[in-house]
Amino acid sequence: MTSCQNCNYKWSTKEIWRIGVSKNGRVCAKCGKKQYLSRDTKNWLTVGWLIPLIIILILVPKRFVKLSNKDEPLI
Ligand SMILES: [Zn+2]
Repeated sequence: MTSCQNCNYKWSTKEIWRIGVSKNGRVCAKCGKKQYLSRDTKNWLTVGWLIPLIIILILVPKRFVKLSNKDEPLI
């Protein structure tokens, strides 16, 4: 569960999204203490962005890039 580390208040989904896109943390709605994403969460978010990027880099060239015998001009 995503809860405030100061007062244990359970954060709503909307509040979790807001801290997720915020770079400077977010103030707890109940106790007012600033909360930040944990290091584990940041690691997960980074990996979550990297995986689709790697898939695109591997799959897109073979699917869409075609070769030609000639150096064809644009248009
Ligand atoms: Zn709190």
